[in-house]
Amino acid sequence: MTLVLGAIADDFTGATDLANNLVRAGMRTLQVIGVPDGDVALGEIDAVVVALKSRTCPVSEAIADSRAALDWLQEQGARQLFFKYCSTFDSTDDGNIGPVADALLDRLESRQTVMVPAFPINGRTVYQGHLFVGDRLLNESGMENHPLNPMTDADLVRVLSRQTSHTVGLLSHHALVSGIETTGQRLRTLQADGVRHVICDSLDEHDLATLASAVVEYPLVTGGSGLGQALPAEYRRLGWLDEVTNAGRLTPSSGASLVVSGSCSKATLSQVEHFLADHHGFALDPLSLSEGDDMFEQALAFAREHLFAGQGEAQPVLLYASASPEKVDKAQQRLGATAAGELVERALSRLTRILVDEGVGRLVVAGGETSGAVVSALGIRELRIGEQIDPGVPWTQAPLPERDTPLSLALKSGNFGDVDFFSRAFEVLP
Ligand code: ADP
Repeated sequence: MTLVLGAIADDFTGATDLANNLVRAGMRTLQVIGVPDGDVALGEIDAVVVALKSRTCPVSEAIADSRAALDWLQEQGARQLFFKYCSTFDSTDDGNIGPVADALLDRLESRQTVMVPAFPINGRTVYQGHLFVGDRLLNESGMENHPLNPMTDADLVRVLSRQTSHTVGLLSHHALVSGIETTGQRLRTLQADGVRHVICDSLDEHDLATLASAVVEYPLVTGGSGLGQALPAEYRRLGWLDEVTNAGRLTPSSGASLVVSGSCSKATLSQVEHFLADHHGFALDPLSLSEGDDMFEQALAFAREHLFAGQGEAQPVLLYASASPEKVDKAQQRLGATAAGELVERALSRLTRILVDEGVGRLVVAGGETSGAVVSALGIRELRIGEQIDPGVPWTQAPLPERDTPLSLALKSGNFGDVDFFSRAFEVLP
């Protein structure tokens, strides 16, 4: 079978979220970090998600990177392209959703695409073109205070119209509930009227299934993970996709187990505390790290002793800089927020690199930025997506150049996961 879906995600965690949902819907999925230099082995892969950093960068950069991703995905034979953005439509009047969608449509010589940000199980729905987060309109959901892309208007037709010179229209819930036929008809009418971007209402999974059925043969669709979850059933209906029993099956893991946490989010702080009740852990702090190499060396010696010195299977070990808001504040006052963050990220990612080289084979990382630093220190460019540990956080595997078995890796955003996440992650790992 050839590659069915090629997705371009505008940030890393958004890419993982989509990939996770594709696996759950039965597609064997690979996430690549940035556009690969050449071909990647896609033998048993149904979907590839390219993770870009194009959400808040300058428009021209977002367009160039997205086009490069599109070209690469087309070279790999992707049958449908998917531009993935946040379910809260994170963007500004300058972009980047509208300009990127336009650039991709131009490249594909396609006249129309749909915009489907809704993710009903996470409370994101769209009605009469207005985006809701739970029972609040987008502009009253807290997103109006976002530091990078404040969302002050919930009317997506209006929002997108400010980002593109092309016509934006609405596929209303009224058309959707009339069924697939009417939905398809409405889309064709809009196209005949010159509507290039169609904001789609969607209140639940049933609406998303109707939409997926209507747009499965579009060269390009755009939206959030909800649409991603609905499309695979349509691919199977068309015979594009094999029935696989376990799309998230990974190679059995081996090696020592390490948890690295640079997240100071509330959920992570509870997870750290819970884990330390019956596991070994070493706390790093930016103030000591700024004074020289002592703390780094102590952390390394501690990890080596508990990971590798004993007989038989050692318990997972935690290295963490996660600290209370008061401690973080103190470090930031003394060092500056950026410098404090960088000291921590550098120490944790260097420690991880050394310990993976020495035999860690299962790794959990807490924190978005921290994950970015670790993945880049390990030189990881692709992740095969496995089973979900908690909503939004799957196990993944990355090939290691000098190792027969890949590295098993779980990358957790700060606020994700239940309180026992760290220990349970290793229990569910194949
Ligand atoms: P989250 O996903 O919870 O936002 P991130 O890893 O994205 O976590 O961000 C946390 C940031 O805080 C990182 O830059 C990290 O280096 C920094 N950090 C971690 N521990 C401390 C600390 N004790 N003092 C100051 N900054 C810290």
